[in-house]
Amino acid sequence: MRVVVKIGTSTLTHATGRINIRRVESLCRVLSDLKNAGNEIILVSSGAIGMGVGKLMLSNKPEDIPTKQAAAAVGQCELMYVYDNEFAKYNHNVAQILITGNDVENPQNLLNFQNTVNRLLEFGVLPVINENDSVSTDEIAIGDNDALGAIVASHVGAQRLIILSDIDGLYDKNPSVYPDAKLIKEVSEITPEITLMAGGKGTSLGTGGMVTKLHAAQIAMDAGVEMIIANGRNPEVLYDISEGKQVGTLFKRK
Ligand code: GLU
Repeated sequence: MRVVVKIGTSTLTHATGRINIRRVESLCRVLSDLKNAGNEIILVSSGAIGMGVGKLMLSNKPEDIPTKQAAAAVGQCELMYVYDNEFAKYNHNVAQILITGNDVENPQNLLNFQNTVNRLLEFGVLPVINENDSVSTDEIAIGDNDALGAIVASHVGAQRLIILSDIDGLYDKNPSVYPDAKLIKEVSEITPEITLMAGGKGTSLGTGGMVTKLHAAQIAMDAGVEMIIANGRNPEVLYDISEGKQVGTLFKRK
């Protein structure tokens, strides 16, 4: 199965922006194992800005574009260094691809991107994709990696997009405010009622929230890709998903 796994900053790093070593080790071990079982995995990883913030010892996520872009440039190196080391333990090669909105809108760039991903997968390499934040401006930015994950999944012929987040899935109301909030297990259409369930807020270092995830779900579903939001706290949840167990919220393909 060809699967895109999107992992958010809050899953990869502590609130300080420094890497969550236990989490990342577990994630890379599970993904390596799923590759060993014959799955084609593409990772869409956030964390560049967050790790840059940690490495540059900034007190919080920068607001201005040049500092954000500088943090992304520093953090992207760190991110790939970590992935390269972790996947090397299991004899898997990683490759970095950084894209912007321009690249998916320009047919030639899109074709180049697709060809590269396909060839990497033929080589058994694990592509790690992020937005090229250091050159992105508002006009060309995809903006959040939930959408990036869905765009990638829809253009590389993936059957499934898994969004690993710091929440179990979509709730009927905000679970951090309402203890009786219920997890929605399956969504077959993004109705106005479903949209109302999504609050707006993400975490301090990441970009996404439930709204960006619903937007991603719409892109994925329209492209015939199923999407699952699951909690990345324990990356072994990826085994359950691959075994067809009910986990998090499933957005069914059309
Ligand atoms: N591309 C951003 C980063 O690597 C993340 C965007 C997002 O969190 O959605 O920091």
